[in-house]
Amino acid sequence: MEPPSQVSISEKKKEIQKREADATVYMNFMKSHCCYDAIPISCKLVIFDTTLQVKKAFFALVTNGLRAAPLWDSKLQRFVGMLTITDFINILHCYYKSPMVQMYELENHKIETWRDVYLQYSNHFLISISPEASLFDAIYSLLKYKIHRLPVIDPESGNVLHILTHKRILKFLHIFGKKVPTPAFIRREIQELGIGTFRNIATVQQAASLYDALSIFVERRVSALPVVDEQGKVVALYSRFDVIKSPSK
Ligand code: ADP
Repeated sequence: MEPPSQVSISEKKKEIQKREADATVYMNFMKSHCCYDAIPISCKLVIFDTTLQVKKAFFALVTNGLRAAPLWDSKLQRFVGMLTITDFINILHCYYKSPMVQMYELENHKIETWRDVYLQYSNHFLISISPEASLFDAIYSLLKYKIHRLPVIDPESGNVLHILTHKRILKFLHIFGKKVPTPAFIRREIQELGIGTFRNIATVQQAASLYDALSIFVERRVSALPVVDEQGKVVALYSRFDVIKSPSK
């Protein structure tokens, strides 16, 4: 057997080095930028006191076109959590009985009452990040705690500067990551890379009730549901955000 030529060894080495560089290109980018860099110059931020009624809080989210708000506990004088569309879905799902029965809990509950009910089995606390922390740390927290909202809190003033999301971080990468060399895997198929869900997809029937859709959101913890007709054909998409949108008719 002939020994491998010098050329093919160095080509293989180059190939390995390229693959290693590809694997870390985005990680290095995120490590070299801090959360402050990804904060927009101006944005709308609404904060809820935990004594506010849940119904009013969700109306305020809808009116302001927001998806989440940090919660301020005036007794403790600190931020204690977040209120998001997931919480709204959980409240509706928890208290809805029938169209004939009014949801008194939704009418009367304060945010703190709901949190007492909902968080009694778990030890929830606010997950936040400092503006000096890297975007890599922010992504790590979003993934580790399986959340979509990460408040950036100024350690000196204790103020929330912004709420970081996956979307904001991707936008930052899109705008400022142009100089980053494009890794080869970007051109590969998403299924081949194992990204996304290709099996056991949660769907909702076109004729199903809103409550059925909410139940799937609660049980499967998915962010959107393809709406299918009797033949299983996708006819629409119902997302978590659609839950707080007012119906057009
Ligand atoms: P969304 O409904 O916008 O997708 P999440 O998936 O982040 O929001 O919310 C899931 C749950 O985690 C909700 O009960 C929400 O109140 C809570 N949550 C979200 N962000 C945080 C955070 N930074 N710290 C603590 N709890 C959070």
